[in-house]
Amino acid sequence: MNRADFPILSEQVHHQKLVYLDNAATTQKPQVVLDAITDAYTHWNANIHRGVHHLSQVATAKHERAREQVAAFLGAKQAKEIIFTKGTTDSINMLAFAFGEAMVHEGDEIVVSACEHHSNIVPWQMLCQRKKAVLKVIPLIGDKQLDLAAYSALLSDKTKLVSIAQVSNVLGIIAPVKQMIDIAHHRHIPVLVDGAQSAAHLMVNVQELDCDFFACSAHKMYGPTGLGVLYGKAEWLEQLPPAEGGGEMIEHVRWENTTYNTLPYKFEAGTPNFIGSYVFGKALEYMESIGREKIVAYESELTRYLEEQLLGIDGIQVYAQGEEKAGVVSFNRVVPTLIHPFDLGTLLDQQGVAVRTGHHCAEPLIDYLGVPGTVRASIGLYTEKEDIDRLIAALKRAIMMLG
Ligand code: PLP
Repeated sequence: MNRADFPILSEQVHHQKLVYLDNAATTQKPQVVLDAITDAYTHWNANIHRGVHHLSQVATAKHERAREQVAAFLGAKQAKEIIFTKGTTDSINMLAFAFGEAMVHEGDEIVVSACEHHSNIVPWQMLCQRKKAVLKVIPLIGDKQLDLAAYSALLSDKTKLVSIAQVSNVLGIIAPVKQMIDIAHHRHIPVLVDGAQSAAHLMVNVQELDCDFFACSAHKMYGPTGLGVLYGKAEWLEQLPPAEGGGEMIEHVRWENTTYNTLPYKFEAGTPNFIGSYVFGKALEYMESIGREKIVAYESELTRYLEEQLLGIDGIQVYAQGEEKAGVVSFNRVVPTLIHPFDLGTLLDQQGVAVRTGHHCAEPLIDYLGVPGTVRASIGLYTEKEDIDRLIAALKRAIMMLG
């Protein structure tokens, strides 16, 4: 789908046409996004918010327009609920600090799931260490789905926040976040959804989900690196202290005390990535121009095809087999013996096929699966059946070579 819009997909790797199946790590960029970067630096680059001069005002308007685009894309009620960050990791760290400072005390509990990325584990561990709080983990049933009964039982008056990935970057499974949010809200517990793997591959609407916070990364959504989003309901963000100090996040600075700016600026210290936000807006427009529902339906069918084709190879184990997945499939060749995923990945690369191998920044989950890692193929809107067929042929060759 729309492959021709992505110049990098015409590149050769090891003298073969590139098959790019590492979209969960980062996505490639369409020409409109590449053009937007050049346009910004060529025509209107100037620092925002502080300038009365023309270019500064143009840049400010474009940055704030991008905020509105993100709000519309995620279904936020107000643009001020969109905070620009450096990425999902930065968003979660920011929230862990701000929420942690204001709301978490000794003995309190934070709940995450067994299939989180390190970005949604370590900031909470650090908070728990700082505040003498406790991190609780929702278990998985086999390698399939989160155990919702165990989840409900974990929640208590001590639980201050639940933070869960909507889509696992290892298993590809889609957590029933709406249901989990309802369960948490029943106890007045706020929920952060890590949308790093869902924002570009599912129809996300933060108001419909009713999540309190949502984090995602532009580079996983056909946009630029170094930019992300922390969405927060205004009533929550108003209550939280800023996570960083500096320019722009202040109202007045005096030696005696400093007062803070309003939302969203309170959380955006320093010069924001205003070129990135503009470019991200172009990536969102690009996805909208194709049609988000069309992308979701297309990718869902392709993910099923990917899993079916993998299962057609002798000795392959697909994790979370048969579960509905959002563009990510992890597997290993396990019979007669495990082939190390790194060896498979290396031989696939030599055939021009880019996949990711290893622990995918989710070591606790990989330990739980009892393997040294997995091979992960992940798709984007430009992936075609032919890419998957190339993967399968290359995989068969690699397995034969590794014997
Ligand atoms: N959360 C999940 C589920 C992810 O898959 C990733 C990246 O792969 C992240 C968080 C971190 O994203 P970033 O590195 O863009 O901050």
